[in-house]
Amino acid sequence: AVPVIAIDGPSASGKGTVAARVAEALGYHYLDSGSLYRLVALAAIQADAGDDPAAVAALAEALPAEFVGGRILLSGADVTDAIRSEDCAAMASKVAAIPAVRDALLERQRAYRRAPGLVAEGRDMGSVVFPDAANKFFLTASVTARAERRYKQLMEKGLPANIDSLSEELSLRDARDAARSVAPLMKLPDAILVETSDMSIDEAVRFVTERIA
Ligand code: C5P
Repeated sequence: AVPVIAIDGPSASGKGTVAARVAEALGYHYLDSGSLYRLVALAAIQADAGDDPAAVAALAEALPAEFVGGRILLSGADVTDAIRSEDCAAMASKVAAIPAVRDALLERQRAYRRAPGLVAEGRDMGSVVFPDAANKFFLTASVTARAERRYKQLMEKGLPANIDSLSEELSLRDARDAARSVAPLMKLPDAILVETSDMSIDEAVRFVTERIA
């Protein structure tokens, strides 16, 4: 089977950057599964359907998303930056708790598994989407470290940011992601823990690549 490296963890743990760098180093494909939930969230916000689980599931089923040259399109419109807003993140965490939404995105995610290999990043890569992944990692960091990272990312994009509300939003979102009955955020017994609070991106990338079996 085509090898998969699963990297799960809470928001702003560095898993996005680390996963992309590991994929690049190995020449593997890369799946940012959170972007799919964020796209469903944006579609739900646009359709004002956030409170109707069946309507959100239908949006996820038909999701007119395209990934072109590093840009993310929804119905042909460039939403690369729009899906990174905190509003979209909060709605993503809400729609991600709907079982039918997760089902609708399952095959779309598995289709990324192509030779020579895949690095997949999210909350349930090792548990649900690629349970047979050869290597599983759980990346985490303190809430303070994560809030600071997200703050920097948002500032760099010129998006509004406040460190206290970010830290509160991250904690709330992680609690919801961990408490849900479908695909809860958790460290699997067979996943390697990577505590990145005091690691640079280079150190975290090295830590992961050195442990790929
Ligand atoms: O990783 P990111 O912050 O972009 O994910 C946004 C939200 O999407 C998460 O808070 C989580 O609720 C949801 N998600 C998920 N399963 C994944 C990836 C993301 O439930 N594999």
